[in-house]
Amino acid sequence: MAIVLISASQDIAQWRESFAALLSGVELRHWPDIGVADEIDMAIAWKAPEGAFKSLPNLRLICSLGQGTDHLFRFDDLPPGVPITRLVDDSMRRQMTAYVIAAVTRRLCRMADYAAYQAKGEWHPLAAYDPAAAVVGVLGLGALGRDAAEKLAGLGFEVRGWSRNPAFIPGVECFNGKRSLAEMLGPCDMVCCLLALTSETLGILDARAFAAIKPGAYLINSARGGHVVEADLLAALDSGHLDGATLDVFEAEPLAADSPLWDHPKVELTPHISAVTMVQSCAGQIAENYRRMTAGQPLLHVVDPDREY
Ligand code: NAP
Repeated sequence: MAIVLISASQDIAQWRESFAALLSGVELRHWPDIGVADEIDMAIAWKAPEGAFKSLPNLRLICSLGQGTDHLFRFDDLPPGVPITRLVDDSMRRQMTAYVIAAVTRRLCRMADYAAYQAKGEWHPLAAYDPAAAVVGVLGLGALGRDAAEKLAGLGFEVRGWSRNPAFIPGVECFNGKRSLAEMLGPCDMVCCLLALTSETLGILDARAFAAIKPGAYLINSARGGHVVEADLLAALDSGHLDGATLDVFEAEPLAADSPLWDHPKVELTPHISAVTMVQSCAGQIAENYRRMTAGQPLLHVVDPDREY
């Protein structure tokens, strides 16, 4: 049997080298050069084209080549009954927590302001800060959000978390469910989005959510661009209600050349790099799931198609 990698952005040679050591005798093919489609029993996918899975008649497992699974639900074309797994990766967790802490502490330490003073040659101390006086809200307490919330609490921030189901994290005040969102957001000085993107969370950070956050707050979005209604974010920044944002993900990627976000004075942005899939870190769990699939054993990191994550 064979595995197909469906991703335009991956280095197939690197994946073949890793899999050769992990799954001897299993061929790794690269979409669209799939050879005999009947021979493929697993697809590793990142933004697969519409209909790709349905062209593989003996598919027994779809593995998301990322922690997020929203890309699999873009089209209504998933073969019924075929299990879906995703990555849950230590390297991505470390990368994401580092990114979030960098954005939060950069804001708290006024690094952007000091860079501006440095450019003018000005020695200009601003007001002192204490992390314990800053409230950070973390939306999403899954594989990534939980770690970020824990580490922020460890740095002394007052941390509030929000998820779908009740969560219990030492040092973090946890809220759950749609009805508690405004209450959770209310006192936050900084809000970091690490939610799964689903039909329920699409556009969740809109004018209404921004209005619920106290004036002068700061937004960090490193989950998915679809969580934020960019027009509402720009309005909240321009009105002064939000004081700034660090954005790693956007409604359309790459960000359009004419997007007002590029040179907005209150926005710092990065090109979707806050947690990157690294072959050497992720190949092992994908190979393990292939082995489990062929042995009929329970799979790791299974996605529930009904809740879309
Ligand atoms: P995850 O483990 O699936 O966690 C998702 C979290 O979202 C969970 O806490 C879940 O609540 C919560 N959630 C889902 N639907 C909700 C709803 N309707 N209301 C409230 N909470 C809801 O995901 P993850 O692996 O931590 O990834 C988090 C995000 O980061 C994803 O959007 C992913 O795509 C993104 N990501 C971005 C990058 C990047 O480079 N920018 C890299 C990797 C991942 P429960 O805990 O109650 O289930």
